[in-house]
Amino acid sequence: MAEQKMCMYCAKWDDITRLTPLFEKGKTHVEYYCDGCYPSVKDNLLNLPYSSVYTWGTKGQGRIL
Ligand SMILES: [Zn+2]
Repeated sequence: MAEQKMCMYCAKWDDITRLTPLFEKGKTHVEYYCDGCYPSVKDNLLNLPYSSVYTWGTKGQGRIL
């Protein structure tokens, strides 16, 4: 059984393979977003002046090494 993570936006728990991870440069913390929230979070992020510190991963991906 795959690991369960919570969507940081809507606080819904889901299988990690169905959530998109967001990595922040220099940090080990990873945030996860469900398909419903991912598009709006992505848009919001692009509007941030410091958006370059964030990297989207692919579903089911762990931490970038
Ligand atoms: Zn969500």
